[in-house]
Amino acid sequence: MTERLSSSPADAVRAPTAAPGRVKEITSVSNPIIKDIRALAQKRHREESGLFMAEGLKLVIDALDAGWTIETLIVSKAGLADSELLSKTAARVVALGADLIEANNKVLEAVTRKDNPQSAVGIFRQHVQPLGRLDFGKDGVVVGLDRVRDPGNLGTILRTVDAVGARGVILIGDTVDPFSLEAVRATMGSVFSVPLARASEADFLKWRAGFKGLVVGTHMSGAVDYRTPDYAAQPVLVLMGNEQAGLTPALAESCDRLLRIPQAGRADSLNLAIATGVMLYEARRKALTL
Ligand code: SAM
Repeated sequence: MTERLSSSPADAVRAPTAAPGRVKEITSVSNPIIKDIRALAQKRHREESGLFMAEGLKLVIDALDAGWTIETLIVSKAGLADSELLSKTAARVVALGADLIEANNKVLEAVTRKDNPQSAVGIFRQHVQPLGRLDFGKDGVVVGLDRVRDPGNLGTILRTVDAVGARGVILIGDTVDPFSLEAVRATMGSVFSVPLARASEADFLKWRAGFKGLVVGTHMSGAVDYRTPDYAAQPVLVLMGNEQAGLTPALAESCDRLLRIPQAGRADSLNLAIATGVMLYEARRKALTL
């Protein structure tokens, strides 16, 4: 797939001297540009184009502020008259060299596949870091997700990683696409602030061999209570298993410790995103204060 390999999305920002983007009004859902944008609902088209879609004016502004590259902004033509912020953002993206589409509600509904669509939808360039560039700091926490399958889980985990101030997420093996509309929606904008890396299991294990921090895996047969390790003393990688199968034996083997979150009732296990949240709040406990 097309991935930007710069260390930060800011590296990918167009030069301030870029030619201004084009402005078009589109009122028909069968317009070929709208058909192309709608095709981003399919993974194959996201992979071929290297693009993805994010809805909402706040999210678009946050992404621009964080240096993500926008290719196209679709706005509600009616909304432009009502919202100064929307028109300012439209002018900003055109100045950056991105295209602006002024659309009616029908077109926005078709693009977002939703009734009551947002007044702004951004088409952004995907950005994934090389594994070696993830910055753990001296005591940062990063989450590694083994073959995560559910876009809602992945989005929720990115949001939680962002909330606790963890340093990033490594997607290991064949995972769900973090740039699917469902995953992006579930991140509530955190897709733009959490550094994301991807690796095959073999590449991850090679990288892990040179990693100097603590690697903990959460496992249903882990022997160590997750509240026991001292997470604040060094960089920490927390490995979380696939929703059905848990961690592969090779990944479990690569951990310094296998941790278990105690359970009292009849549930076999916690949901992956919940277990990640529990782990992250413990691993980041000393860094989080009101
Ligand atoms: N049947 C799977 C198994 O046996 O591993 C259950 C997987 S669980 C739904 C998904 C992931 O969440 C697990 O691989 C683990 O990383 C984490 N997890 C869920 N509950 C946990 C618990 N009580 N202790 C440790 N990890 C847990």
